[in-house]
Amino acid sequence: MDTVMSFRLYAEKTDDAATHCVQLIQDLEQTLSVTDAASPVAQLNASGQGTLPENAAQLLQKTLELSTRTDGALDPTVYLLVCLWGFPTKAYHVPTEAERTEALHKVGCSHVIQDGQTVILTDGAQLDFGAVAKGYAAQCCADYLQTQDIAAILTLGGNVQTVGDKPDGADWQVGIADPDAPETTLATLHLRGTNAIVTSGAYQRYFLKNGVRYHHILDPVTGAPAESGLTSVTIVAADGLLADALSTALFVMGLEEASAFWRASYDFEAVFIDDAGKIFVTEGLADAIFDCDYTVIPR
Ligand code: AMP
Ligand code: MG
Repeated sequence: MDTVMSFRLYAEKTDDAATHCVQLIQDLEQTLSVTDAASPVAQLNASGQGTLPENAAQLLQKTLELSTRTDGALDPTVYLLVCLWGFPTKAYHVPTEAERTEALHKVGCSHVIQDGQTVILTDGAQLDFGAVAKGYAAQCCADYLQTQDIAAILTLGGNVQTVGDKPDGADWQVGIADPDAPETTLATLHLRGTNAIVTSGAYQRYFLKNGVRYHHILDPVTGAPAESGLTSVTIVAADGLLADALSTALFVMGLEEASAFWRASYDFEAVFIDDAGKIFVTEGLADAIFDCDYTVIPR
């Protein structure tokens, strides 16, 4: 998944469980990878039709539902745009408006026809699970670790997944990176129990051209990096896939629209950082955030 992962498991014997988690992630990578030509998703992208394994088909169905729920801000068909900007190959390119317009004709969930495990992509559209795969993978590991009664904290790039309570009774502490200096933290969340804490940030993947910074979270309306006034969105939710999907979608929406979306929802909380470095926290996290100044977004 092109990122660094680390797992901390709390049990007397953790080797087998850790190995199982690594295996789960590797299996998912092999299924969902868009760059490994042998993966079922890459084959579907190449041929426009195919059969997905059951877990990938379920992931696609849930991702399409979340795309509808976010009014298209999350769009699993952005892959042609992601390629146009050169992110998978790192052969970066700033497309012309004409190039973007052409690609946009092949982007949108209306190009995906799914009947169970059978999927057709029309007009050359291509899938990308990059916005949800890590959260889904972390959730699969969390589900397994819960069956083993093992408390854990998993870090998959910008995704953190806690499982159970920390054995010493303390809170799980999760730092939120400073978008301007990602090695340092701007705030800390103190949480208990099982949660997904997922951050989407403009600083996580980007390139510079003529002094302009182009990041990897694309607005499916313009086909360009989302300029929403936000530099980082962190979602806290019980479900890893939901948290990952919404971190990307709410980044695209921007603070105002994302706040309205949150007010209409009851399954997540969020921390937003805007491009002036201001921190905004939804009401449910007001007592959980430390080490920073922040503004509470009320219900
Ligand atoms: P995340 O880091 O979870 O926000 O996911 C970002 C990744 O998802 C990018 O690197 C792209 O591969 C893909 N992506 C970019 N923009 C979108 C979008 N609007 N909807 C869905 N996937 C996207
Ligand atoms: Mg995401």
